[in-house]
Amino acid sequence: MPKWTFTKGLHDLGNGCFAYLQPTGGWGWSNAGLIADSGQTLLIDTLYDLKLTAEMLDKMRAAVPSAKSIRTLVNTHSNADHTFGNQLVKDAQIIASQKCYDEMKEIDVEARRQELKNWQALGDAGLFQHENLDGNFDFEGIVLTMPTKTFERELDLKVGDKQVKLIEVGPAHTRGDILIHVPKDRTVFTGDILFSNGHPPAWAGPISNWIKACDLIMSMDVETVVPGHGPIVEKSALKDFKAYFEYLTRETRKRFDAGMSISEAAYDIDLSQFKGWIDEERIVVNVNTLYKDLGASSGLLSPFELRTWMGRYRREQRETAHDHSHAGHNH
Ligand SMILES: [Zn+2]
Repeated sequence: MPKWTFTKGLHDLGNGCFAYLQPTGGWGWSNAGLIADSGQTLLIDTLYDLKLTAEMLDKMRAAVPSAKSIRTLVNTHSNADHTFGNQLVKDAQIIASQKCYDEMKEIDVEARRQELKNWQALGDAGLFQHENLDGNFDFEGIVLTMPTKTFERELDLKVGDKQVKLIEVGPAHTRGDILIHVPKDRTVFTGDILFSNGHPPAWAGPISNWIKACDLIMSMDVETVVPGHGPIVEKSALKDFKAYFEYLTRETRKRFDAGMSISEAAYDIDLSQFKGWIDEERIVVNVNTLYKDLGASSGLLSPFELRTWMGRYRREQRETAHDHSHAGHNH
């Protein structure tokens, strides 16, 4: 029996640590966290839009009165599904790694709104974003709200009497990923260094760095691991997650050496041992990053091309599943 249920909302981890979960954990459905001690609170990440973030803050304030004035917000990385709600806690000090800050500065909120509006003109990439985001998230009113304090490598904080350690482990998922470790509570909030029951997209890489981050978490004395997406898990989940990257590294190298293109390699790799993990189309991003890690000098895909190929990959998966379910009736 899993120790934690995967239901939407605030989950009390005990001793002043909370996780806020958003099933399904797929595209944009991120988790967040709250650490409270002696009347002080630290929020870990905001959500993809203002409505979702406001709803989360209401739940936190109902459970923890001192969350009415959150003193500190930590962004685990730059991705919009962890930062677009920042403006709702703008009186807090906002802490992130310097590399997260640099990457966040490049986000163009208006361009994203326009892309989503004009999705029909953007082919498979537009359709892919439309399916992932439209109707789920609302980017109206979002004002990019940047971190106000940055660090490199490590930063020790106190929330009340509780020690909280920020540890930079990127570049991996993004350029500036960090972990948030609460030693006394044997808890780690991993941000998107862990996707539980989902394929992780390695936007930045190198993948070898992500594998090192898995080793670091496994070496910690922790019993509760709150991922950036998906259900809360125990440390043992990192073993399977690391094995995914090791498998992908081996399989991609073979295809790189054989001269396959990135999309050919992505379609060719057998992912059946990870059945049950969502968002399988992210294989395209990961093969692209591994080709970059292996020193590919040409043929790498742009963010737009990645969305195009992920859209195609997912459509073909659906069609295959559909064919299988109808095979018995047709013949
Ligand atoms: Zn995320």
